[in-house]
Amino acid sequence: MQVVDIEAEKKEILKRYRSLLLSCKRRLDANDKKQIRKAFEISLEAHKDMRRKSGEPYIYHPIAVAQIAASEIGLGATSIICALLHDVVEDTDTTLEDIKGMFGEKVMQIIDGLTKISGVFDHTPSLQAENFRKMLLTLSDDIRVILIKLADRLHNMRTLESMARDKQIKIASETLYMYTPLAHRLGLNVMKVELEDLGLKYTEPSVFEDITKKLQETESERTRYINVFIQPIIENLKEQKIDYEIKGRVKSIYSIWNKMKTQGIPFEEIYDIFAIRIIIKSSIEQEKSDCWRVYSLVTDFYHPNPDRLRDWISTPKSTGYESLHTTVMGPEGKWVEVQIRSERMNEIAEIGYAAHWKYKESAAENALDGWIKKIRELLESPESNALDFIDDFKLNLFAEEIFVFTPKGELKTLPIKATTLDFAYEIHSQLGNKCIGGKVNNKLVPLSHKLNSGDQIEILTSQKQKPKDDWLNYVVTARAKSKIKLALKEEKRKIAIKGRETVEKKLKQLDASFTKSNVAILVDFFKVKNNLELYYRISIGNISIKTLKDFTVEKGKLIPKNTLPKKLESKKLEELVSEVRGNSGMLVIGENLDKIDYKLSPCCTPIPGDDVFGFVTVDEGINIHRTNCPNAIQLMSNYAYRIVKAKWTNQEKISFLAGIKITGTDEVGIVNNITKIISNELNVNMRSISFDTNDGIFEGNIMVFVQDTNHLKELIKKLKKVPGVVNVIRMDSN
Ligand code: MN
Repeated sequence: MQVVDIEAEKKEILKRYRSLLLSCKRRLDANDKKQIRKAFEISLEAHKDMRRKSGEPYIYHPIAVAQIAASEIGLGATSIICALLHDVVEDTDTTLEDIKGMFGEKVMQIIDGLTKISGVFDHTPSLQAENFRKMLLTLSDDIRVILIKLADRLHNMRTLESMARDKQIKIASETLYMYTPLAHRLGLNVMKVELEDLGLKYTEPSVFEDITKKLQETESERTRYINVFIQPIIENLKEQKIDYEIKGRVKSIYSIWNKMKTQGIPFEEIYDIFAIRIIIKSSIEQEKSDCWRVYSLVTDFYHPNPDRLRDWISTPKSTGYESLHTTVMGPEGKWVEVQIRSERMNEIAEIGYAAHWKYKESAAENALDGWIKKIRELLESPESNALDFIDDFKLNLFAEEIFVFTPKGELKTLPIKATTLDFAYEIHSQLGNKCIGGKVNNKLVPLSHKLNSGDQIEILTSQKQKPKDDWLNYVVTARAKSKIKLALKEEKRKIAIKGRETVEKKLKQLDASFTKSNVAILVDFFKVKNNLELYYRISIGNISIKTLKDFTVEKGKLIPKNTLPKKLESKKLEELVSEVRGNSGMLVIGENLDKIDYKLSPCCTPIPGDDVFGFVTVDEGINIHRTNCPNAIQLMSNYAYRIVKAKWTNQEKISFLAGIKITGTDEVGIVNNITKIISNELNVNMRSISFDTNDGIFEGNIMVFVQDTNHLKELIKKLKKVPGVVNVIRMDSN
């Protein structure tokens, strides 16, 4: 047993509390301090017998959350009080009324919000999604609820070390799945980066360590290069009497990993691993022209790449981000990104909207209000599938943006890849529903036309037009998606009326009553989602109930004669999971699998040697995914209880399907050389092969049968040596 020195602990608690007060960025008056002290004492008393997993006194946690809110987000007294009290109502007898009596209405409301969303991540995915919706709804009440919730999560991530491994994976995946997009959207960039890196550290420890090591190894070389690069710039900034600060900023581990993954390149080939940031002291009236002055100074020495100029000073991102970016050719022929911004812009870049309060800028506040309004609309739409909503919503959180114009010249911000149809829904849902196409810069374009920044769009409509199923493939905004789904559902409802009448009539003929329970029996029998689906499918002839010969009737109640065999449904999911986990708690692929139905998931085509996990499904047995499968994070965070650990057995050699993508210059005989290597030299079998050439560049997709990752690596190595081949990567999906 651990011996606790109570006196030493008391001292430490007070020390931490004082450091909280000192770290506060905003000025606190005497009354603020009194209230904070009171909150601290209440929290201390409330949690006095509780300890964290690490064995530390529980009060360390609320103090740390308050400190993050005060010093890292820059929030004031009210938020500090709420952060200190954030777990009190939930964990003790203290009521919201008590809080209101002691600290007033506002604090009570925020604590209420925090308590309501505290169970956000529950076991069942639908409940979790539902709670996430609730969390977003509180956004419009008081955004401080979300900011404190994020501070709470950040501290939990920082102290994740002491949790059990399965908890770590679950919490880290949730963080990557829901909290980082939210931090991103609110412009809390520093926090987003830390959450992402911590998320990666616990979901993919080996990747995290590997990149960390490589960054350390290359650090001195980077520092040397940055010093050479900034030398002439510094001299000139001084000469021109510009008050500045220069930082060499290294890309986050998570974003390096992301780039390696999406572009299929090794660490060594990422050229933009660092950027130079020049932060200048300037007044709000002068800052814009001062930034351009620095830009012109930098480009006096280094040649800029005109394609890489990003002016977020004139048009800030919708997250509030303002900065001027350029990429220039530095010494030794290396491209270097330079970011130029004022101190004010820098603060916004780091903590986002939280900084805007300080500067009381109406434009930025309006942008946030606009965004919150959009979320509200989405949340309140009768489309009830919460999980769907989150996926749609997430799409919009991370999307890069384009700027387009209405015929009257009004600016609209849309995510990249947005189409004519997205634009129509952005203006008005009726305009979307009736849209048949558009005119982009006076040229006729279809619904699915992808827009570019600077486009001016006029929407063309027809009264006869109706939303179609495939419209969902044309749009990228959550708003358009939800409006289309809503319209489709409306349409379905209209069609379903006929099916409902049919059911009513048939039941009557059979002397069964048209009751909820009888309809439920039909829904169950035909394996459809709900009543609406049943009526709809009957209307369109997809389900036939001309005669109800599969049923008998007793006292008006419908009884199925012989229910269709239900494969696995009788066995409960939990039983299934524990059966698969077996004694070792692990699924060994190729060994105990004759009993168990499994499938290598087609979305990431795992092969032996890959890190994998099993995902238990009700009617398809177990799907094996790679841990870096694009779907993995979502599965792990939403359905942690259905995940089983898995590894490969190294028994007999069997072949597995894997996809590779080859790019290169179109040289004579290259295809022949490639296929020769694949089939002759390595004895690999090809399943399919396709080549495309375009202006002297060729791209080939080949599906091959290999034994394991080593076999595949060997093949990729050999293919890279073929003259003309520029790059060979494994594909994530086929
Ligand atoms: Mn907490």
